[in-house]
Amino acid sequence: MQTNERELLNAVAFIKEHDDFLVVSHVQPDGDAVSSTLAVGWLLSCLGKKYTMINEGPIPRRMSYLWHADQILNLSETSPGRTYKYIICVDCADFQRVGETKNCFEEGALILNIDHHPTNDAYGSVNLIRPQAAATAEILFDLLLAFDFPLDVDAATAIYTGLLTDTGGFRYSNTTPEVMRIASKLLEYGVDGPGLSEKLLEQMTFSQLKILTRALNKLERTEDGRISWVSITDEDLAECGAIHEDLEGIVNYPRNVMGVEVGMLFKVINDRAVKVSMRSAGNVDVAAVCQSFGGGGHTRAAGARLEGTLDEVVARVVERVKEQL
Ligand code: AMP
Ligand code: MN
Ligand code: MN
Repeated sequence: MQTNERELLNAVAFIKEHDDFLVVSHVQPDGDAVSSTLAVGWLLSCLGKKYTMINEGPIPRRMSYLWHADQILNLSETSPGRTYKYIICVDCADFQRVGETKNCFEEGALILNIDHHPTNDAYGSVNLIRPQAAATAEILFDLLLAFDFPLDVDAATAIYTGLLTDTGGFRYSNTTPEVMRIASKLLEYGVDGPGLSEKLLEQMTFSQLKILTRALNKLERTEDGRISWVSITDEDLAECGAIHEDLEGIVNYPRNVMGVEVGMLFKVINDRAVKVSMRSAGNVDVAAVCQSFGGGGHTRAAGARLEGTLDEVVARVVERVKEQL
């Protein structure tokens, strides 16, 4: 057990004392969000607790191999009016990130907030927040071990998936010695490391490659070459036969251009709103930039949703990033 042992013990007590939980994560869930939801579900099932897992939208298809991935309900599949008193939120930097699943929270619901974003505002009744963790799944590894039963390959695979995806395949600066130690233990439980890398990081769908090509055709940069970005509209998605999950990883291309400090992906949500994803080469704290727009994230990977048309939002965001250089 680590530094914030009290937080961990409080989380353990929250789970032991209550029953009939709702487990949720953020909208447009990534590998860490899905894996962390399932790792909590796995824990609750071992404890013989009643629980329901819900996400606002669909789970990325490439994660269907995970234990009980098909049991995470899409909000549209839930019984109307059914609400929950005990909520476990994973990988959500702030309350808004749960999206419309908040409608399933009972008035005055108690929330256990498990997360690794430094911008987390401790919205839970109980908070287990470790900004030094590479992934929420890393925190769950400790939480699962705090209960007295061994992990199995299903739980280990979920945790490994969260670590693998949030570290970009054990490459980003959040790949600490602790991450590697945990990953090595997980491999000993029988996790298929190379198979997961192939499935999650190497393989691409045809539509994913089409939307990537289209995005790269629109690659832009500032005159000094220190900020670069691409933008995607719903027409782009439709013409490539792509869906939102096919955008995963595209933001790394502008970020990877030599000389670029901040790479961005702008995704038009509707006539009045745009989602921006930011990646930093290391000198700009993009979590702070995104937080100034009402979003959040990590120093080197963050996001926000802004009101305005694509052109307005791009201009506003590029100006704000320039001020940070
Ligand atoms: P993304 O660009 O969506 O891949 O997100 C990068 C990181 O920032 C992830 O850790 C997200 O959880 C976080 N993030 C993205 N959008 C938001 C937001 N609107 N508010 C808070 N954190 C966010
Ligand atoms: Mn996430
Ligand atoms: Mn995460």
